[in-house]
Amino acid sequence: AKKTGRNQVKFFEPTMHAELAKRVRMEGDLRHAINTARIIPHYQPFVDLITEEVVGYEALARWERSDGTFVPPCDFIPLAEEAGLIVELTDQLFRTACRDALSWPAHTVLSFNISPVQLSDRLLGLRLLTILGEIGLPIHRLELEVTESAVIRDAETARIVLDQLVNAGIKIALDDFGTGYSSLSQLSDYKFDKIKIDKSFVANFENSEKQEKVVRAIIALGNGLGVTITAEGIEEQSQLTRLKSMGCHIGQGYLLGRPLAFDFTLPDAKQPERH
Ligand code: C2E
Ligand code: CA
Ligand code: CA
Ligand code: CA
Repeated sequence: AKKTGRNQVKFFEPTMHAELAKRVRMEGDLRHAINTARIIPHYQPFVDLITEEVVGYEALARWERSDGTFVPPCDFIPLAEEAGLIVELTDQLFRTACRDALSWPAHTVLSFNISPVQLSDRLLGLRLLTILGEIGLPIHRLELEVTESAVIRDAETARIVLDQLVNAGIKIALDDFGTGYSSLSQLSDYKFDKIKIDKSFVANFENSEKQEKVVRAIIALGNGLGVTITAEGIEEQSQLTRLKSMGCHIGQGYLLGRPLAFDFTLPDAKQPERH
């Protein structure tokens, strides 16, 4: 076995070898991080644009390494999926998020992200509902954010899984709306409770007449279908004012609150100064 091992090494370019080694190390680190609960949700508020009240918090996963740096979710969620660790990681994140949400005001919603890969897991609903029941968070306080690509990739399974969740009374938000895929067929097929206009539109609509028309159209569509419209990625007061006047219901972004560790979501905690 040693011989073949040695021979095989020759097939790898040095850079490829390094890549592979890095990946193996990262996977081990990730496994360790999950086992020691180093990956936790941070929470970003979303705000009713009319009443200016926080109506909920979105859980955003953060991996805090021992040197105090954070690994962003785009670097470890796909890895967790490929390494078969996503179920364990999600259960852990979801359990923590539900427990944290119990101490928020009773009218606030916990919004939790589900990736495309997870929507092809037929046991997803069962697991989430079991955890919800164990923690005792009422179902109406939960909302799941799914992306359009999730709905399309494995349409049949995604529909079954979504149906289970919806029938159980869980609200579903369509995340990153307007990016990548044709969206209209999904909207007529599924009963979504919320549409989140992707932050790329929010970043550009003030400088682009075309993008502004798209944002207007999405808001009109939402109003027509009775779906709540959220705009994410609001960084400027002018964006907030414009979106509100366009009839957008809910806003989220650095201007309204950054993603922060759990303590900041407690009623007596203050958000740090806005920059
Ligand atoms: P997303 O669901 O679209 O989340 C919004 C992202 O925009 C977050 O990045 C958030 O920190 C960032 N953001 C919020 N406000 C602003 C703003 O005003 N300006 C800008 N430029 N960005 C803003 P983050 O936390 O790095 O998350 C990236 C993506 O990772 C998320 O995109 C989501 O798709 C995924 N993700 C995060 N947590 C989880 C999780 O627990 N499970 C799964 N499956 N995916 C997750
Ligand atoms: Ca999201
Ligand atoms: Ca989004
Ligand atoms: Ca996204």
